[in-house]
Amino acid sequence: MEQDIELRDREEDYININPLQAAGRTYPETRIAIDSYVDGYSVCDWCNGALCKMDKPPIQKFLQSVSEFLDMDYSMLTNGCREAKYAVLHALTKPGDAVVIDGNKHYTTYVACERAGTKIYEVASSGPPEYRIIPGDYEKAFEKVKMETGKFPKLAILTHVDGSYGNVVDAKKVADMCKQYNIPLLLNTAYSSGRMPVDGKAIGADFIAASCHKGWAAGGGNIGLLAVTEPWVKQVFLPSVKYAAKPLEILGCSTRGSSTLALMASFPKVKERVKHWDKEVENARWLSGQLEGIGIRQLGVKPTEHDLNFYESDVLYRISETHKKKNFYLYSELKDRGIVGIKAGLTKNFKFSAYGKTREQVEHIAWAFKDIVEKYG
Ligand SMILES: *Cc1c(COP(=O)(O)O)cnc(C)c1O
Repeated sequence: MEQDIELRDREEDYININPLQAAGRTYPETRIAIDSYVDGYSVCDWCNGALCKMDKPPIQKFLQSVSEFLDMDYSMLTNGCREAKYAVLHALTKPGDAVVIDGNKHYTTYVACERAGTKIYEVASSGPPEYRIIPGDYEKAFEKVKMETGKFPKLAILTHVDGSYGNVVDAKKVADMCKQYNIPLLLNTAYSSGRMPVDGKAIGADFIAASCHKGWAAGGGNIGLLAVTEPWVKQVFLPSVKYAAKPLEILGCSTRGSSTLALMASFPKVKERVKHWDKEVENARWLSGQLEGIGIRQLGVKPTEHDLNFYESDVLYRISETHKKKNFYLYSELKDRGIVGIKAGLTKNFKFSAYGKTREQVEHIAWAFKDIVEKYG
């Protein structure tokens, strides 16, 4: 190859524990779909005017199934979770309006608010070691906004599960509070939907944003979903005045290629796997217990309720002080044992996920950490 592009080899030959990638990993049938739709504008062969209304491939029907799966009323494809969040912000707010978000938010929540020009109020977490978001603090934030700006916020955004500690927030409690104040709630499910059951109506969310290359086993590029309840359809799915088939907030059509087909191809597997969420949590708890046993401490809510976990480790850090590979030893020792996915260079603080791994693989991960500590500790 003229440009030196190395072939990527992760899922094929290693146990990949990078939390960003664990639930985005594609299935064999997904890879076939991606391959066959890999060329530009591949979903447009039978275009009937709008991506989300397409019958061939059956995107419209698929989106109806997604709405049922999330127990919401309407869904549309976006280029990612961040684009879904921005779509809601852009449709609902004007520059200068206030929005309440949580302290464990992903940077893209903040950036989406910035781009929309909103005033940002943050609900702080409880801090170390658990970093909990307390649902009741949303109410305090609403009152604070009212005091300082004279109006209640236009929108509340909650990170259902955050990407740092894997804390699962009681979203229903936040939604109940939002209802009392008549403030719509956007639930960011980047780390929840597609992995664990998410029922929009039971929670009471007005909007659900999802990251499908992260949580719905969809590769082939970037893709997300925005699901909304009936009362918001008009505002959020508002079409162009001149091009009546084209929703403004996704600039007409969003994911126009293989990622859409990847998402559709993985969907049957995703629907099935959320039913086994308890197994994933059980594995994560077992791993956390094993690591705590050798002095690697889990932060965030304990016992953990999610596959993504954050660890703090003096024992692994101390080894780096004398190891000839310095702080890169952990990456290399894990790789020697068939495991990748913890950022090269980290030893003291790191996060990982064993999502979708077999019990045997989960046990192998625990063994690898123990073996490294025994070898050098
Ligand atoms: C990964 C992540 C995002 C961003 O998702 P994209 O689909 O890449 O935009 C947003 N929020 C949280 C909590 C995340 O973990």
